[in-house]
Amino acid sequence: MNAFQKLGLDADLLKAIEDMGFETPSEVQEKSIPILLEQETDLVSLAQTGTGKTAAFGFPLIQKIDSNSKKTQALILSPTRELCLQITNELKNYSKYKRSLNVVAVYGGASITDQARSISRGAQIIVATPGRMQDMIRRNLADISSINYCVLDEADEMLNMGFYEDIKSILSHTPKEKKTWLFSATMPKEVAKIAKKFMTDPKEITVGSKNKGSVNVSHEYYLVNHRNRYDALKRLADANPDIFSVIFCRTKRDTQKVAEKLIEDGYNAAALHGDLSQNQRDLVMKSFRTRQIQMLVATDVAARGIDVDDITHVINYQLPDEIETYTHRSGRTGRAGKQGVSMVIISKSEVRKIRTVEKIIQQKFEEKSIPDGKEICK
Ligand code: ADP
Ligand code: MG
Repeated sequence: MNAFQKLGLDADLLKAIEDMGFETPSEVQEKSIPILLEQETDLVSLAQTGTGKTAAFGFPLIQKIDSNSKKTQALILSPTRELCLQITNELKNYSKYKRSLNVVAVYGGASITDQARSISRGAQIIVATPGRMQDMIRRNLADISSINYCVLDEADEMLNMGFYEDIKSILSHTPKEKKTWLFSATMPKEVAKIAKKFMTDPKEITVGSKNKGSVNVSHEYYLVNHRNRYDALKRLADANPDIFSVIFCRTKRDTQKVAEKLIEDGYNAAALHGDLSQNQRDLVMKSFRTRQIQMLVATDVAARGIDVDDITHVINYQLPDEIETYTHRSGRTGRAGKQGVSMVIISKSEVRKIRTVEKIIQQKFEEKSIPDGKEICK
């Protein structure tokens, strides 16, 4: 009996899991799946980014859906369009041997009529961003009045992005008896509030310690004169020719500027931020996923939840204003058991912030010098 079978998953799922090459369940999967399969309960499940939360709710959900009925039975809310598409793709993979199961993604920036049409053909699972879901309900294009399960994925991110009111309103259109499964990397006050207000006696699972950075990530900082930030970035890229990285800037303007300079200087780079059209964002993500782009320069909002495998380096071109955000940034690397590096380019005047970050992630930074760049560090 393999380890997934022991959790109680059925043959169709086990076959799909084998196709995906998953050999053993991650800790959050091991803890969440049996509870969700065997008990009709609300659940709060906290685990770091990259620990496999999608399958932790996706496997049991797919097993519990009645694919003979075309009614919408589950709603998954997730913070961004990219994540909606990613979750939808994953669920389609998991359910490839369950032919009559339909998963439909619902998000802004694409035709609402097309999405409504897909739902009307029978979508047992809807994966939605809160904003677009609200629209759908208001315009009577989706019926979630008899769902059995509601998943709040990346709950901390959704609340960070200001979706509290949308979530509240969406939940008011769902039956009282449904079960709510909340997944999150961190448990800030707002998430605790949601759990208290909208859930009934939730079971709780915590993997690792709350708010801690991923253990597969080592953290490094590079002291530079702030005028030389860009040169430092280039040296770091040159010293790591196989770099496949996300570079975080604080503003859309910086993001665009740094990406343009990198392109000018001959690097495979692109910008990802909110001023791009959805079409442009999709194209950028596609080129990044397929490795045509090695350096994705992004704002925090645009990069939320991106799950691209094998990101080798996260580079903080600037530290984020909110230190919590650092955890999310560095969580883009070191996923699925792989080793990753999170680098911070920082000037002398800000270096004390590193100590604050260390306290929050409960990990130490290593101070390193820019390769062959003594002159730009002064
Ligand atoms: P999270 O939502 O916790 O940030 P994801 O669900 O996006 O994490 O999973 C991160 C990566 O790990 C994905 O690429 C996923 O395919 C992979 N993964 C998940 N579970 C397993 C497993 N049991 N074995 C191998 N890889 C896994
Ligand atoms: Mg996730």
